[in-house]
Amino acid sequence: MKILFVASEIAPWVKTGGLGDVAAALPAALRAEGVDVRVLVPAYPALKQAFPDACEIARPHWLGGQLPNCGIREAHTDDGLPLWLVDFPPFYDRAGNPYSGPQGLDWPDNHLRFGLLSRVAAWIGSDVSTLDWHPDIVHCNDWQTGLAPVYLRYLPGAVAKSVVTVHNLAFQGRFARSTLAELGLPAHAWHVNGVESYGYLSFLKGALKHCDWITTVSPSYAREIQTDVEGMGLAGLLRQRTGELTGILNGIDLDAWNPATDPFIARNYDAAHLAAKAADKAALQLEMGLEDRTDLPLLGIVGRLTHQKGLDLVTEIAESLLAFPAQIVVLGSGEKTFEVAYRELAQRLPDQCAVRIGFDEGLAHRIEAGADMFLMPSRFEPCGLNQMYSLRYGTPPIVRATGGLADTVTDAIDEKIGNGFVFAAANPAALLAAIQRAVDAWHEPKRWRRLQKNGMACNLGWTGPARQYAELYEQIVDA
Ligand code: ADP
Repeated sequence: MKILFVASEIAPWVKTGGLGDVAAALPAALRAEGVDVRVLVPAYPALKQAFPDACEIARPHWLGGQLPNCGIREAHTDDGLPLWLVDFPPFYDRAGNPYSGPQGLDWPDNHLRFGLLSRVAAWIGSDVSTLDWHPDIVHCNDWQTGLAPVYLRYLPGAVAKSVVTVHNLAFQGRFARSTLAELGLPAHAWHVNGVESYGYLSFLKGALKHCDWITTVSPSYAREIQTDVEGMGLAGLLRQRTGELTGILNGIDLDAWNPATDPFIARNYDAAHLAAKAADKAALQLEMGLEDRTDLPLLGIVGRLTHQKGLDLVTEIAESLLAFPAQIVVLGSGEKTFEVAYRELAQRLPDQCAVRIGFDEGLAHRIEAGADMFLMPSRFEPCGLNQMYSLRYGTPPIVRATGGLADTVTDAIDEKIGNGFVFAAANPAALLAAIQRAVDAWHEPKRWRRLQKNGMACNLGWTGPARQYAELYEQIVDA
């Protein structure tokens, strides 16, 4: 089985969120299952620096519309995973993150930048490819790669089948109608059964319509996106394809996120030596300028500061929460109003609340290790990785019952298998009540240990999910 895995980011080189982690970990786990995988990503500066010797192996040309000729360079990760880099410096050699410039604004030519990535994926999956490796399936991820199934459908010579994984339905890649020709798509693709979506050209809609199979990153999210409330305008289409839509829960990288070996944290520990976690809490308090208090529960938050993540609910209840009393550390970046609200909170209550705005991999690890509990009150959460890291680090998560959070966290009410705290309504009162329950449980050390150990015993690796993907690939190719 040969799989071309296509993504717009890949950890550790280029990562803005969970997609980057998945693009690194799932292909590696698939290889361990005997699947022959190559990962196709844009040749961003960080990747070119990491792999200066990457050789050009092909030059796709005549790609249509305003898509430029480009190179494909080949590199290998330390573990031997082949990386194919789409090389066109005017598109990818830019400051900022993959999607936006240093000022936080989306690049105006993102349709061409990710259209090219999609088009090259389709080129590799068609009989015009000059490469000597031909994928059975092009596995796309999110809107940035969403036109690959569309090109495979509309252009001659397609050989490969396609799978699209939805990591977040909220991001659909919608552009003006005029981009249709720029992307080299035929006029008849502008259709409700093509790439048109509410008057825009939608990369994701095109993907969902034209791929052979759709997956998403948790079983609950697979159900939720078929409802009008959570379907982000695409529920009808997803319901039409319900027989070709599977939810496969993400795994986590058990080596990178292992409290027993984590090089980022002050003291390593495992489920049998949980007392050592206290040193990580003290180190985190020191690093973040909080009072060194062992008698207060320390809550952690890491993530994008956005409405999706429900982090406005936390600022709304912050006063009551900190009056428990408790301490809170926050690491994240995102919407300016959220950043301001958290900064103000930290200024008002500096002994109890510490906030770091930015992206900091090491600090994310230290919060997972040093916090007593972890907050994820997401309004919706396709899978979520941080709650799984929290489980692994013996830091029980407090989550809203949605998507992957609902599929991974079991409420402490079930003493046998409970590993965290789950609440239903996306409102401040429900969140506060869940935190109250968690704080009460934290004050009962025996009960708390049990929760921690239940979480640490969860099977969270990529082996299970990779097997599910491998089986799905077989099924698609056989169909
Ligand atoms: P999403 O992909 O929706 O942002 P996930 O929970 O699936 O959310 O994945 C987020 C990933 O990004 C996790 O690996 C998390 O640790 C990381 N992350 C998010 N924000 C930050 C940050 N400010 N600093 C470090 N890591 C972060």
